Formats: sequence, structure tokens, C-alpha cells
Amino acid sequence: MTALGGIGPQLGRLVERAAGPLVVDLLWHLPTGLVDRRAAPKIAELKHDQVVTIPVRVVRHEPGMGRRPYRVQVEDDTGVLTLVYFNVKGDHLERQLPIGAERIVSGRVEFYGGVPQIAHPDYVVAPGESARIKPIEPVYPLTAGLSPRVVQRAVASALERAPTLPEWLDPALQARRRWPGWQAAIVSAHAPASEADLQPETPFRERLAYDEILASQLAVALVRARRRRRPGREFKGTGVLSQKAEAGLGFTLTQSQRLALAEIAADMAAAQQMMRLLQGDVGSGKTVVALLAMLIAVENGAQAALMAPTEILARQHHTVLQRLATPAGVAIGFLSGREKGKAREAILAGLARGEIPIVVGTHALIQPDVAYRDLALAVIDEQHRFGVDQRLALAEKGNAVDTLIMSATPIPRTLMMTVYGDLDTSRLTEKPPGRQKIDTRTIPLDRGGEVVAAIDRALYAGAKIYWICPMVEESETADLAAAEERYRVLQSLLPSARIGLVHGRMKGADRDRVMAQFAGEGVDLLVATTVVEVGVDVPRATIMVVERAERFGLSQLHQLRGRIGRGAAHSTCLLLYQPPLGDIARQRLAILRESEDGFRIAEEDLRLRGAGEVLGTRQSGLPTLRLADLAHHAELVAIAHDDARLILERDPGLASERGEALRTLLYLFQRDAAIQYIRTG
Ligand code: ADP
Ligand code: MG
Repeated sequence: MTALGGIGPQLGRLVERAAGPLVVDLLWHLPTGLVDRRAAPKIAELKHDQVVTIPVRVVRHEPGMGRRPYRVQVEDDTGVLTLVYFNVKGDHLERQLPIGAERIVSGRVEFYGGVPQIAHPDYVVAPGESARIKPIEPVYPLTAGLSPRVVQRAVASALERAPTLPEWLDPALQARRRWPGWQAAIVSAHAPASEADLQPETPFRERLAYDEILASQLAVALVRARRRRRPGREFKGTGVLSQKAEAGLGFTLTQSQRLALAEIAADMAAAQQMMRLLQGDVGSGKTVVALLAMLIAVENGAQAALMAPTEILARQHHTVLQRLATPAGVAIGFLSGREKGKAREAILAGLARGEIPIVVGTHALIQPDVAYRDLALAVIDEQHRFGVDQRLALAEKGNAVDTLIMSATPIPRTLMMTVYGDLDTSRLTEKPPGRQKIDTRTIPLDRGGEVVAAIDRALYAGAKIYWICPMVEESETADLAAAEERYRVLQSLLPSARIGLVHGRMKGADRDRVMAQFAGEGVDLLVATTVVEVGVDVPRATIMVVERAERFGLSQLHQLRGRIGRGAAHSTCLLLYQPPLGDIARQRLAILRESEDGFRIAEEDLRLRGAGEVLGTRQSGLPTLRLADLAHHAELVAIAHDDARLILERDPGLASERGEALRTLLYLFQRDAAIQYIRTG
């Protein structure tokens, strides 16, 4: 990195912070704007806020005094211009701008009291050196402490070293899309000649986006191909347990639950390891499906484990599963970080001896000292909270473990392949019968008084109500303060109400106690941060208020809203927003009002806000795309997906000429770890 032209170790670190740790990363650091320096008017014709490059003569220096800046008067035949410098130290201005000298100056013009000036010109060069000023200059996203010039120099230096590489694209595809070669594309992307060249649809940006997507699809396909070669165990359900459990449900499975279950059963019966995603909106009935799958393992004398991301969720799963499994006579163990000493030892012993056929828990399930007699099925809930490593860690506790991942995040089809490309998918597309549409309304915050009055009436009528507090970005402490403040205010406004507070900083046991009170008696109005987001089930709750709804992700709002409308009673969701709303914010909230289809909501959110936001990539640690912007390049995902499959079908060892080129591609996007999965021999 620091071998790059003109960058010492200190700056090197800053450049890394902006661009990422590798030299190739600098190439991926694409400009987001440009400065056009081609305008060269006479001084008398200068306009405010115009970027110009003009020849001048130095007339006079006025050194700064105190807070007054250093000024240098320059002129041409038509007028005088002032160059302004703050915090000048030493004599470099006298050397750079000696009186009487001709100079070419480039920068942004401002008028100050009718006089044109340029504060800190971007360039001051002698007439012979005008080539140093690029007519059009790319503008890069920056990090604190780095001047634009340093980033430009670093990128330029990386570009000079960018080699021509053998082409990895399918020639027919490249010809059809009129995409340039990689090197030409990267050079063009860094040399925009107009605003149009900054758009994601240009052939060169599109090509680079495709390269990135193809690298990720190929990596995923390699992992998947490896998994397919790995032997699994063949578990056929006997039905002795699952039939009893199903008979005890008190309802019949929906069509899509049946289909999902059949797909899972087929995977478990096949001689390969299952790696399946069970995707379904909140309340679509994933838990039942998971239980019936786990019973297949138990029917074969093996064990199953379900891991949830939080203590609350794990306990709730445990309670529900215990109830559902009782008709089958199967006991369900529980393990979280809170089990200590003797209790923990007893559970560990039960798991090791196989006396506990099914266990539910948190990360505690993957601690090194937890051993199973024969773990056959790992079920992981809400996988976007877990890293891929954790998901594998549970599977590694057994021999050829089948893995089922449950997610309530409705992921648009286009993102599916980039995020879960290595998984088979089952989707629960219908809700259990008897659910009512949730009445969703948007209300400006200044009508909060009416909302509180309505809540007062509803509480009086016996309602259970969630009050979700605003998210304050990147700060749990601030979230907490907001929630505590809201709790106090509501207590004073509703003195006879039974109000509870839960937030992420609470001790698990305290939080569970409040949740239990809300589910039962003792609390009717639950003030909460987004900790209630996932999975918490209080079917009696029928009203939800979300404060500052415009700050939430749509899918997150949709999941929050899924906490109500779970029973047969009519439910209402009030989205309070801070006016005025921007155009996009208004459209986003309108979608939520109109639709309860999580997939449609996610698609729309993707369209309006882009992929990172939809997936909450930052918190999930999912690989982010740097060049591809799925709001524009979504169609490329399907193409790359098919491309990658075809590549591995024809050349599983990436041994052909194109295969070699594709290895380079994987390396460029740091996906080369996947190369170890290439079939050898
Ligand atoms: P998810 O885990 O997908 O959010 P759950 O499995 O918690 O959904 O199911 C939500 C509720 O619907 C539970 O109370 C469950 O018992 C009930 N349920 C599940 N499947 C059905 C069905 N086929 N018919 C009626 N109710 C169902
Ligand atoms: Mg199997």
C-alpha cells in the first residue's frame, strides 16, 4: 500500500481507511463527482461559484494578521482577483507566488463585497506546467484528514499499475452488452468526462459491477458445489412422532407449510447435507415447520438443536416448542448463557448422553464444551443476526449435520442470490387462515396528543399496546435515553395505565420479566426499543405505535408491525413521523400503509433506498457490494448466477484459459478463499 507513489505510511493509513486495505481496493474507490476546470474567462467575466483555470500576474502580498487571512492580489488585462489563504505559516506563498510572476491558477471563485476571490486555489502552477492541471478531475469520497489531491494521486498511481488482464467475461455476453475490457473499464470509470459518466448505467460501470457480482456468484457456486459433494446421512421420517405432534396442533398446516416440510424431508432423506433457508414473513408459521423437521431427526434416534439470536427469542421458542411437542412426548432442553453450575452440567450431560433429543438455546449451544451424542439437524433462527461462521459452528457439533435456516427478513429475489446464493430455499407465502388486515396509519408527531388520548381509551377497553421508540443511529445509549424519557412522559400522561419498559441494555432476566408481564397481566402498555423487533409473540397485543417511523427501514417496520395482528382481533398500527417528510420518505410510509406483503415491501424499499439499507448490511456483516448498485444492476445478478453455474459445469476445476482468468477475478474481489473449494482430481 505505502509503496504507492507519493504516500508515506501515515497517509497510507488514511487512504486505507477511505479505500480499503488493498491496492486493488483503490481501483474500486470510484469517483462520485467531477470538477470541470475547463472554464477560462477573463477576470472581468468571472461568475460567483464558478470553477476556473486562468493565467494571472502576481501584483502584491498582504500577509495575514491575527484572524485576518493572507491575501495575494493577482491580475490580468481586465481586472484584479484576490487569492485568500488562512493559517499561513512560513514563506511558501512568497516562493510560490513571487511578485511580477506569471501563474496559472485554478479554483472556485467567490465574490466578497463585489470583489472576486479564490480561497485556497486548488492549483497554482507556472505557465510551463499547465499540464499538471487536469481539465476534468474526478472527485472521490473522502475520509477525514485526507486531501482530495492525496486520494487522486493514490488512485492515479494504482491505475498506472493496473495491468491488462486476460478477459474472464463470456465473449458473447461482453459483445452483446458492449462492455469494454477490464482495464479500459477501470480507466474510464476513474476519468469521467461528464456527469453522465458517473451514472451506474454506463457500459464501463456496468461491466465493473458485473465483475463484482460474478465474483460473488462464482464464490458462492464453488461453496455450493463443494457442499453437494459432501456426503450426508439419509434420514427418513417414520412419522411416529410427527403425526402425534401434528394431530395435537389444533389447526391444519397451510399449503406452503406442507410444501416446505416436504422439501425439508426430501433433503434430509437424500444422501447430501441439507443447507436450506426457510423464509417466511412474521407469523407465517415457521416454528411449526421447524418442529416437524426436528422430529424427523428424533425419529431416527438422533438430536436436533435450534439456535436463536437472543435470550428472549430462545426462551419463547422453547416455550412454544415445548407445548407443540408435548403430544409427541418429546422433551425439549434449554441452554443459554444464563444456565450456570449444576443446572448447566445437567443439560450438557443430557446432550452428551442423548437424553435430550431437542435443545433450544442461544450462542451457548456452540460453546466448545457443548457436545451432542448425535446432532443431526441444526435449525438457526433469524440468520441475518448470525455470521456464516456461527451457522457452521453449530453444524460442526455433529456428523454431516443438516442445516435449516429460518429467516423472517423478506429478501427481494434479486438480493436472494447475492446473500443466500449457496442455499436452497423454501418460502412460506401464505399466512395461516383467520388473520385480519392491520389498519396502518401515518400521523404527524404534532398530533401526538390525539394519539395518547386514543391510547388511553384503548387501554381502558383492555387493549395491549406496543410503543416503539425512535432509533438513534449508531448509539445504543441514546436509544435508551429516548426510551426512558418516553416511559416517564407516558407515565405522567397516563397515570392509571400499567406501563412497562424494555430495552437492549437491560439484564436478560429483567427484560424477560417485563415481557412476561406484558404477555400476561401487570403491563398493558409496553414502551420498547427495537428489541421487540424479532419474533416476540404476544397474540393479545393489537395496537402498535412507532415513533419517528420515517427513521426505520421498511422491512424493519414491517417486522415490528408483525408483532400485532397475530390473533383474531382487529389491529391498528400508528406510524408517527416528524414533518415535513421528503418525497422518498412519504412514498416509503405509503407502501407500508398499502401492503402487508413483506416481499413487496422489501422490493419497494430496495428500489427506493438501495441494498445496504434493506438488509441492514452493516449490522449483519454480510459482504457488501462496492461497485454494483443493486437498485440499478439487479438484472445482472440473474445473469451472473447462470454464468457462474455454467462455468462450473463446463470447467469445475477452473483449469481452462477462461478458468485461469476467473481465478484472477476472484482474487481481485477478495473472493479467492473460495478457490480452495475447487474440485481437485
Ligand atoms: P413465525 O415463526 O413464522 O413468525 P409462528 O410459527 O410463530 O410464525 O406462527 C405464528 C402463529 O400462527 C403461532 O401462534 C402458530 O401457532 C400459528 N400457526 C402456525 N401455523 C398455523 C396454521 N397452519 N394455521 C393456523 N395457525 C397457525
Ligand atoms: Mg440428508
